[in-house]
Amino acid sequence: MSAETTASLPDAHGHFGPYGGKFVPETLFSALEELEREYASARKDPGFRRELSSLLADFCGRATPLYFAERLTRHLGGAKIYLKREDLLHTGAHKINNAVGQAILCQRMGKKRVIAETGAGQHGVATATVAARFGFECVVYMGAVDMKRQALNVARMEFLGAKVVPVTAGQATLKEAVNEAMRDWVTNVRSTHYILGTAYGAHPYPMMVRDFHRVIGDEARRQILQREERLPDLLIACVGGGSNAIGLFYPFLKDENVKMTGVEAGGEGISKGKHAARFQGGRLGVLQGAKTWLLADEDGQIEATHSVSAGLDYAAVGPEHCYLRDLGRVQYDYATDAQALAAFRTLSEIEGIIPALESAHAVAQAIKVAPAMGSDEIIIVNLSGRGDKDVAQAAEMLLNK
Ligand SMILES: *Cc1c(COP(=O)(O)O)cnc(C)c1O
Repeated sequence: MSAETTASLPDAHGHFGPYGGKFVPETLFSALEELEREYASARKDPGFRRELSSLLADFCGRATPLYFAERLTRHLGGAKIYLKREDLLHTGAHKINNAVGQAILCQRMGKKRVIAETGAGQHGVATATVAARFGFECVVYMGAVDMKRQALNVARMEFLGAKVVPVTAGQATLKEAVNEAMRDWVTNVRSTHYILGTAYGAHPYPMMVRDFHRVIGDEARRQILQREERLPDLLIACVGGGSNAIGLFYPFLKDENVKMTGVEAGGEGISKGKHAARFQGGRLGVLQGAKTWLLADEDGQIEATHSVSAGLDYAAVGPEHCYLRDLGRVQYDYATDAQALAAFRTLSEIEGIIPALESAHAVAQAIKVAPAMGSDEIIIVNLSGRGDKDVAQAAEMLLNK
């Protein structure tokens, strides 16, 4: 593999090798091109970079700490484990990095209305937050099932001034919410910017969302060099659409000795309809703007998915991850619901940190591999979010509450 090529993708049409692209209705082409142009000019504009880094620092709370999990390390008896504390960010997860970046672009494009899709509600909350901060009108589409599961986040969005629209079609979860958001965008494309919440969709979203999250990896790289005077041996992150993972991985892609593992949702095990691990039994297809690996039957019909964590419960994965997997640069594994819940408990009890159930999948992977590694080796786990939103659900499942 040439590290140079990986780090410079996608190409001008948004392709990561055979993946990615722009599979959208004709009416959205001009909106995507406008966004591409605005983003290209913003990237080169020192004023944009200044505004972004100032908001990331003072509004969001960056840089986030790189924390040595000393007790977890001792408990597992292998590699040293560091946690990248995205859970400490404003609104409780990494999603705000991207929401802030896109809000500035929206303002530059002169648009005053934003829409978003949300699963667990974390991206909806991040979008509602930046909408309040910038004075945009905000509409968030959310599956009716998710609205019930994540009532706390629905209330947060409403307090922030957003309108939350329930989506009842199909499974009434994230995939249907994305469909509704795209429908809204087609109708209101002149006035509205779609703040897509992960490294997914049509070009330029996967690239742009990655770029807004690479701050995670840039900081982690600097922090570990300062602390250990060397690079880590292994990076671990959970993969829903893939934004927190690509954000951590991207700045390390050229460091050939740094291994990387993306962790998908194994749900109740790898059988049809019971999980959301696209790289286990998935296939190549097109969904909601991109060509990628997804869970579908032979006729291309998207299959039902399941995960204990709403944020990982999606049938397709970001196109750049497919490419990195083909290259063998990143390995993909999965954690089941049971393993994630066990990791949720372990991290809470041993480190005093209650992780989001999504992030608990990454912690579960560390619990699995750290004991077999040497005590001179280093793992960085991306703790993508905090578990406050999941406490009620976890209490029901683990404490019989
Ligand atoms: C949304 C979310 C995820 C999954 O999204 P990615 O784009 O794959 O990062 C993971 N962790 C948390 C805490 C989330 O809110």
